Amino acid sequence: MQNLGPCAQIQRPSETVSSKRAISALTKEELIDEIVSLGERSFRADQIRDWLYKKNVQSFEEMANIPKALRTELKKRLLFRTLNLRRSLRSGDGTTKFLFELMDGLLIESVLIPEKDHMTLCISSQVGCAMGCIFCLTGKGGFKRNLTPHEIVDQVLEVKRWAPKRPAITNIVFMGMGEPLLNLEGVIKAVRILIDPEALSFSHRRVTVSTSGIIPGILRLGQGLNVNLAVSLNAPSEDLRSHIMPINKRYPLKELMETLAKYPLQKGRRITFEYVLIRDLNDREEHAQRLAKLVKGIPCKVNLIPLNEVPGSDLRPPEEEDLNTFQKILFEANITAIVRKSKGKDIMAACGQLAGLYGL
Ligand code: SAH
Ligand code: SF4
Repeated sequence: MQNLGPCAQIQRPSETVSSKRAISALTKEELIDEIVSLGERSFRADQIRDWLYKKNVQSFEEMANIPKALRTELKKRLLFRTLNLRRSLRSGDGTTKFLFELMDGLLIESVLIPEKDHMTLCISSQVGCAMGCIFCLTGKGGFKRNLTPHEIVDQVLEVKRWAPKRPAITNIVFMGMGEPLLNLEGVIKAVRILIDPEALSFSHRRVTVSTSGIIPGILRLGQGLNVNLAVSLNAPSEDLRSHIMPINKRYPLKELMETLAKYPLQKGRRITFEYVLIRDLNDREEHAQRLAKLVKGIPCKVNLIPLNEVPGSDLRPPEEEDLNTFQKILFEANITAIVRKSKGKDIMAACGQLAGLYGL
């Protein structure tokens, strides 16, 4: 493990708590209003957004074609960045974890994961999480607050400033801290900026929102953003799921699967089911058989994730043999099942683990 330490060149936001709006989550129209109110022409908004989202500059000062007086005024009125990089840790497998401090001192994490020819960035949507899944360290710390749209977008901007240009970050997954569909407004606003061709310009096919199964949120997400949906299942029956994921008592598996069966998928697209395998708890053959029945008929793929051990917990990852048998049973039922070995094990890359260490 290489500890990259606090990143010297990344400055701390100068204000601690501010009433200023953050530039990263302004719509183009809002930025134009700001610029026009300063007596400048509206085309400056395109130039500024280009510096911010495409050229990834570190400050207003670097926006070379913007008149100095306008830069100075914008700096007075708007926040350029809202996250302070407290630490970054790089794993032996190239996975890099970022610990960010928000302006109120709370901590969140983002994880950059190298794939074959691109990078995936895993971002947080809340500080902590109220769902209390038994295997998840984020849940253990409880819930603090929702992230604002700019705090979500700024995770992407900060990591892009830091990361090498190649391979490019092409995929965004909301699989960091928190339950994105309990911060719907914030997540939807942020997603609009992520997929706006004039802003961060990610393909909506490469943005994935992962949920523990918040049915009203799933219904709302299905109404038009066209991003991918991932659902953390983790158990194939009501009782076991309620034990592993208490949210199942509020939104039971049966209703969840009925909702997903009707979910409006674009042609060729599939729902991703995530299943964290925990030794002797949900990794038996009977669980695989029930899971196969449960997801049958829904266009989907299943990600099998061997548990990343959490300090202080007696839950264990599955035996290799049981993992293979589980996958084989799904294959035999013609279900795409991919084993996602945890990356970044040596930097505790599973959700919430680094912030947990810092006493979130
Ligand atoms: N709250 C949402 C999205 C973020 S959860 C959800 O539950 O879907 C983050 C992801 O990390 C989930 O896919 C979860 O399965 C995984 N995760 C959390 N703790 C883990 C652990 N100890 N081992 C392996 N995966 C874990
Ligand atoms: Fe929250 Fe997701 Fe962790 Fe469950 S797995 S506690 S929903 S972050």
